[in-house]
Amino acid sequence: MTFDVNKVRADFPILAREVNGKPLVYLDNGASSQKPQVVIDAINTAYSEEYANVHRGLHFLSNLATEKYESVRGVVAKFLGASDENSIVLNSGTTEGINLVAYGWAMENLSAGDEIILSVMEHHANIVPWHFLRERMGIKLVWVDVDVTGDLDPQKVIDAITPRTKLIAITHMSNVLGTVVDVKPICEAARAKGVATLIDGSQASVHMPVDVEDLGCDFYPVTGHKLYGPSGSGAIYIRPERMAEMRPFIGGGDMIKEVHKDAVIYNDAPMKFEAGTPGIVQTIGLGVALDYMMGLGMENIAAHERVLRDYARDRLDGLNWLNVQGQSANKGAIFSFTLEGAAHAHDISTVLDKKGVAVRAGQHCTGPLMDHLGLTATCRASFGMYNTTDEVDALVDALELCHKLFA
Ligand code: PLP
Repeated sequence: MTFDVNKVRADFPILAREVNGKPLVYLDNGASSQKPQVVIDAINTAYSEEYANVHRGLHFLSNLATEKYESVRGVVAKFLGASDENSIVLNSGTTEGINLVAYGWAMENLSAGDEIILSVMEHHANIVPWHFLRERMGIKLVWVDVDVTGDLDPQKVIDAITPRTKLIAITHMSNVLGTVVDVKPICEAARAKGVATLIDGSQASVHMPVDVEDLGCDFYPVTGHKLYGPSGSGAIYIRPERMAEMRPFIGGGDMIKEVHKDAVIYNDAPMKFEAGTPGIVQTIGLGVALDYMMGLGMENIAAHERVLRDYARDRLDGLNWLNVQGQSANKGAIFSFTLEGAAHAHDISTVLDKKGVAVRAGQHCTGPLMDHLGLTATCRASFGMYNTTDEVDALVDALELCHKLFA
């Protein structure tokens, strides 16, 4: 199947709107992506025709909603290359997924003095839960730096393993530099030493095919709202052997079989890690979004975004007053930059916004990376499947205006 970006764009109604009197150029996909009509329709149908609470009803609508909701587990498994759909826990996104691993797995299996290896380019979602364990349990955080191009050398991560290492928690793709990390050798080496691996798939899963079994990781969380699905949706792949080592993190309805005054019997996994009424409609929307992406073909999406990346890299490299952070040969279409001179990232993004170009400015939830780069903020243009080379040109035109204004 060929990938026709104009057809894809037509599937996303918001892309037809104007912002500040200019056609919208949406380059904030790293934060959250727009939704195709099929997802919007699925949300509408779920609420207008098929809504009830899931799992505990004996009536028609509850069964229908349960069937639709539960079918998403298999869709996520297929999307991530997991052969067992029970290795998928449905949740609200990567932050919840990583906290589940911190509370449900690490708190049970780690003790004071044990070590967790992190890269310096992690998102706060893959840092703060480990700080909780440092503060509460005396876990040691071991940091591995990226090199000057923004690459993370897998061997440096492997070399940081000591007899006390229990977990390596690193991103598959940086949300700031776009660097794609070669995680497979890390997972292989870790596994050989009995060390668990959590690969943060929040960004990577949006832009390239992922096969968690081929990667060999233990935990792989993803984010629904970046995957062209609704906010409040997400999932985490957990290798079954690791799931067996976990205790429930959030307690309540749905995750139990029986509750008595003096005892509780948990539901089977993965349900025992999904307490309370879930994001029913959000999750149904996520399933539709993933089917939409698989229908287009993840290889096709990746190939289209490689063209965007190469074109954007060439055009941005031509602006000798722009400092682009992260020059990895293996990067996705995410560009963080600062402008020479005094212009703050917020000022740049405000000017771009006046031209209809939506980017993000700030720390991007990556304090340690900003410290490493010696920066307080960058502007970030992050591309998705529906962006075009014309939109790269629109970004460059708007940046040239910034240069004129602030130089
Ligand atoms: N990890 C990375 C690399 C991210 O980019 C983000 C979101 O920006 C997250 C984790 C947090 O994801 P969520 O919004 O699903 O909690």
